[in-house]
Amino acid sequence: MASDGELPVADLDSDEFRELGYRTVDLIANYYETVEDRPVYLQADPEDVVAAFDEPLPEEGEDPEAILDAVEEFVVPYATHTPSPRYFGFVMGSGTPLASLADAVAATVNMNVGVWHPAPSGTEVERRCIRWLAEAVGYPTDTGGLLTSGGTMANFTALLSALRDRTDYETTDTGLQGADRPRYTLYTSDHEGHSSVVRVADMLNLGRDAVRRVPSRDDFTMDVDALKRMLEADEANGDEPFCVVGQAGSINVSAIDPLDEIADVCEERDLWFHVDGACGAVGAMVPEFESRYAGMERGDSVTLDPHKWLFVPYECGAVFVREQDVLATAGAGETNYYEFGPQMSRGFRALKLWMSLKHYGLEGYRALLRESVECAVRLDDLVRSHDDFAAVQEPNLFIYSFRYVPADLQEALADPPAVPLARVHEYLDELNQGIADEVVQSGLAFLTTTTVHDRRTLRMSICSHRTTEEDVERVFDGLAEAGARLDSNWRESASLPV
Ligand SMILES: *Cc1c(COP(=O)(O)O)cnc(C)c1O
Repeated sequence: MASDGELPVADLDSDEFRELGYRTVDLIANYYETVEDRPVYLQADPEDVVAAFDEPLPEEGEDPEAILDAVEEFVVPYATHTPSPRYFGFVMGSGTPLASLADAVAATVNMNVGVWHPAPSGTEVERRCIRWLAEAVGYPTDTGGLLTSGGTMANFTALLSALRDRTDYETTDTGLQGADRPRYTLYTSDHEGHSSVVRVADMLNLGRDAVRRVPSRDDFTMDVDALKRMLEADEANGDEPFCVVGQAGSINVSAIDPLDEIADVCEERDLWFHVDGACGAVGAMVPEFESRYAGMERGDSVTLDPHKWLFVPYECGAVFVREQDVLATAGAGETNYYEFGPQMSRGFRALKLWMSLKHYGLEGYRALLRESVECAVRLDDLVRSHDDFAAVQEPNLFIYSFRYVPADLQEALADPPAVPLARVHEYLDELNQGIADEVVQSGLAFLTTTTVHDRRTLRMSICSHRTTEEDVERVFDGLAEAGARLDSNWRESASLPV
């Protein structure tokens, strides 16, 4: 702290630092101890959150103790508690405790893992992580690859590699400004293809029309015959297909595309095969799930996201690109990660992954992944045995979508009366949204809705290593209770045709 017009000393003295450090470790340990009991979602008025941080840029330095007070008072309580065992929104990592320590150490040594020399151990830890991840999921361990900020940048890196390798699109010198060229097209399934691929098409300036949506089968996986027909039709129209993206675990229903069949098509036509496994690729670590991923090892590239189902805190994505030469334009020799991806300066995000992999080991991770899948299976049981819920999918990995549909409306939908049922569907969409909103607002759990076959559904993404079947049961009861209550409040004024 500055006083008497003196400049602040550059660093804290080590006794003061230790004291602040012990206090911070206590804060972290206390957080992990209590996270299960905290309301998952903000209970304060959002305006209070805005007000808490509405202060001027500090002209004078502040006392670090007072800064930590503010962290304790506002930052931690006004978080949405993603590490809670009842956080089921999006696909969020639950955060491994060793990673809290890893990030502190990574910040301390502060290596810039762009070039080997400024980051010898940082580079080697990252290289080891890529190798371990590849080995864990049955991908060739001599693959190229790097850690990224997340799945989107992993997909970006993979699709840029695909474009470089499989088209005559000259990305380096002329880029966009080159002569007339065909439309370079890529293919992903229509229902479960991930929106990040559209973002990548934006970043690569391919145009969103280049993202071709292949029809899916009843189980939400890509219809490979339809893929072949689309490829033929597009080629006949003068397009130049260059890549097919298969899902290894999809965002709404955890679907895994028929990866082997897609790999065959790509091989025949010399297309790049990218596997988007940001949600689910790591499931291949579990021997009894491995066969579901057959063909993933044939991908020219694979995305996976340690900050999702490996529970590592943000940010930590990963991409394998089998041919290292495609990834890096520079020659062999020392690994300089800045050549592999879009970032030049790069943080030491590998340390938290490396420490987490060492801590749980493959067996520990397998047990945790199995538990997530068992929770989804338990949820499916609960849905199917309750009169007022309807299943919309088979349980696959850890993401499970389902609907609240009161029993009498299920009957009406199964045996439609003469009146149009559009209003019933609309009512059910509102009801399911209302249920999710109520449960989130109550603090019991965080979950979202999504759209499956054009209908609003509840969706739970069970990828926390803290979640048990009891958590799932408790939240299911909460959803059932909210459903019954909202339905009885809303039904009369809903003027349904049944
Ligand atoms: C989450 C996800 C992405 C995007 O990853 P980010 O880490 O959010 O950038 C891409 N594909 C799939 C299938 C995902 O689940």
